[in-house]
Amino acid sequence: MVIVMKQNVPETEINRLEEKFKSLGVMVHKSKGVNYYLLGLVGDTRKIDIGQIQANNYVDKVIKVLHPFKLASRDFHPENTVIDVDGIKIGGGSPVIMAGPCSVESEEQFMTIAKSVKESGANMLRGGAFKPRTSPYSFQGLGEEGLKIMKKAKDRTGMPIVTEVMSTEDFEMVAHYSDIIQIGARNMQNFSLLKRCGRSKKPIMIKRGLSATIEELLMSAEYVMAEGNNNIILCERGIRTFETYTRNTLDISAVPAVKELSHLPIIIDPSHAAGRWAMIKPLSKAAIAVGTDGLIIEVHHDPENAFSDGSQSLKPHKFAELMDEVNQIIEIIKN
Ligand code: PEP
Ligand code: MN
Repeated sequence: MVIVMKQNVPETEINRLEEKFKSLGVMVHKSKGVNYYLLGLVGDTRKIDIGQIQANNYVDKVIKVLHPFKLASRDFHPENTVIDVDGIKIGGGSPVIMAGPCSVESEEQFMTIAKSVKESGANMLRGGAFKPRTSPYSFQGLGEEGLKIMKKAKDRTGMPIVTEVMSTEDFEMVAHYSDIIQIGARNMQNFSLLKRCGRSKKPIMIKRGLSATIEELLMSAEYVMAEGNNNIILCERGIRTFETYTRNTLDISAVPAVKELSHLPIIIDPSHAAGRWAMIKPLSKAAIAVGTDGLIIEVHHDPENAFSDGSQSLKPHKFAELMDEVNQIIEIIKN
């Protein structure tokens, strides 16, 4: 339930209402904009008498939120949420480009790729130290050693790090070395991991599950927000369909859908969506045109010998080309 207050409401009245709702066991989230003041009520609101609220002179109207997600919904927070990572603003109007290899393989490999994507104009570095692989016999990632390499690359290039955490036990360690914590598609509904993310203040990037609906993706964000962390970035990375030509099917409509339903930023991962390097540039351009808040792209200087996801990784010169063309679309959209 959202209570829209009148412009002239005094802070004392807001506090009084907040206390009253809390005493009924309901959580209250205040959202103040230039032209509005909203009280979002979450929890069991059955004890709340809507007629009594409407009788209050300072109340403009009461809106029932029909979505199962509340804190993540635009009804609760009409303005876009902007996530600030070392001064880089995700959701701030200008798309943010994250790039790097699927897996951190060695210091030399990561530094080479980090330097090249920086030269091409990427804003952040991606890399995996804990890898969710379909086969237990495939490369599982370098673990803490990989995190240390990424931290070193950040210190050298100034670019913040995005990396995946796969379990609650590793959360603190991954948070220590990184700037944005990725929840991978396979863990999108790992609710204990989501709750752990909620008890941190670090930005969390939640990737859409392989067969998850947009509503389920937003419910995962709700899990993190319900624990108190509002710094969430959503990521569309392709979903399972009957099509097998591509690794997954990029659901480009997830961007406008999320923009309508939620205030949270959403970025696109064309690499895991397509699974084919030749499709990454056209899909990236489409993603920018549809209004994505950013892109996350796999880049490798030697994809033929990459430890994971070589077939979908762009060589550095191809990534540079992509950046040029993506920047042209960004310019067109701005004007
Ligand atoms: C990745 O980013 O390398 C990855 C494994 O992504 P996803 O969880 O989307 O498959
Ligand atoms: Mn990958």
